[in-house]
Amino acid sequence: MSGADAGKEVPRIAVPEGAVQREAVPRCLACGGTERAPEAKVRAQMMATREDRAPFTFVRCTGCGLVFLDPRIPQDALGAFYTGAYLPYRGPRAWGPFAPVVAAGLWRQDRKRVALVRRHAEVGPGTRVLDVGCGKPSFLESLRRATGCAAVGTDFSDSGWRDDPGRWRELDLRVGDIHELHLAAHSDVITMWHYLEHDYAPAKTLERIRELAAGTHARLFVEVPDHDSWTRRRHGALWAGYHAPRHTALYDPDSITTLLERSGWSVVEILRRGSLDPFVLHWMSRMEARGIDWSESMASRAPGFLAGKVAWGVRFRGRRDGLGVLTAVARPQA
Ligand SMILES: [Zn+2]
Repeated sequence: MSGADAGKEVPRIAVPEGAVQREAVPRCLACGGTERAPEAKVRAQMMATREDRAPFTFVRCTGCGLVFLDPRIPQDALGAFYTGAYLPYRGPRAWGPFAPVVAAGLWRQDRKRVALVRRHAEVGPGTRVLDVGCGKPSFLESLRRATGCAAVGTDFSDSGWRDDPGRWRELDLRVGDIHELHLAAHSDVITMWHYLEHDYAPAKTLERIRELAAGTHARLFVEVPDHDSWTRRRHGALWAGYHAPRHTALYDPDSITTLLERSGWSVVEILRRGSLDPFVLHWMSRMEARGIDWSESMASRAPGFLAGKVAWGVRFRGRRDGLGVLTAVARPQA
């Protein structure tokens, strides 16, 4: 999740069709509605073999437009899909000699996040920042370096930071659920970079985040894949934004607004872009179409990736919006 690139080698576990029981999702995660229509049949993505690519169904809420997985894998069984083929966990080293290029891309991603936060919030030494689902907490490190803010990061696992405790010693990093998080003070800035699309109960999470926010001056930043985007229309069921079955919901400007407004937040701005380069979604979707083995080294694919990025830049010169990612900026309702 969220750029976690711990560089760990995870043992490969095959996930054949029907290997894990599924649970029904009776209500829309954003509006609570029960009416839905079929949206897409999507095979499990970022897997090693054809047998691992079990089919899943996404439905669209007819009330608010949220696209969500139904049935889905019970949350406590989802670990079966975070195998040795899960590229983010393998970090830049999965790209062999091209690792520095990938690391530079992640650095640029953090810079964009810092710039966005600073555009919407006064961040300085007195500011308390909470990053939910921080993975490898390089964004918090960058923001703290730039502003001197107090930074708290949470994740379900410490795999993003446990191997390098010295590097992160100025950050307050916690393992666990935000519903059980105890903070000395409320947060002025709360960020969720590619976290919410994984969340099985996003309304509950956003209500909890509202409790953790200091007053109405606080700002929330939520970046997710944009279902109403060029890459989704171009790739359909092979769109990497689905990330089946790890993404439980796909948002667009309407459905994320519905969810935020129902959870105690007012939308300040919806940006049709984010820190994640939408070319990455485009490239991953193309690799899904080819059915590649994601557990292999990516070194031989790096030249194609880089050439594709150049072609993408030419094709979309000057266009940044609506390509695959959206960011919602919100403030607590009074
Ligand atoms: Zn809905």
